[in-house]
Amino acid sequence: MECLFCKISKNEIPSETVYEDADVKIFKDIHPKAPVHLLVVPKVHIQSIAHLEADHSDTITKLIYTAKKVAEELGLKGYKLVFNVGREGGQVIDHLHLHLLGGWRGGEERKINV
Ligand code: 5GP
Ligand code: ZN
Repeated sequence: MECLFCKISKNEIPSETVYEDADVKIFKDIHPKAPVHLLVVPKVHIQSIAHLEADHSDTITKLIYTAKKVAEELGLKGYKLVFNVGREGGQVIDHLHLHLLGGWRGGEERKINV
């Protein structure tokens, strides 16, 4: 299945990529909701957290670990990691993705609605 994020992860559609390896691509959200707003996307097409199977556990571990490594490299001391699950959970793109949000300063508002 070739969805938008499948195409972005194969570089068929351009994105502002900050990290890429054989399994994961991390790129800037086109409509950022925080000073730093990245999407951490597995290259394999999985629709959502609700569609995970037992053999996807390595993929999830890798997404979170890669998000942590990139956050560290960007110097983010704190951040939020968010999975929207299904329409009722605010998911619009039906390809699993982890939102990485951060970069707020001292007293800045940290409320997010991704
Ligand atoms: P969701 O609501 O499905 O959890 O999040 C999808 C995210 O993808 C949204 O924050 C939206 O701004 C972002 N997005 C949608 N289309 C594109 C696109 O073509 N390129 C990039 N970089 N981000 C996109
Ligand atoms: Zn896909």
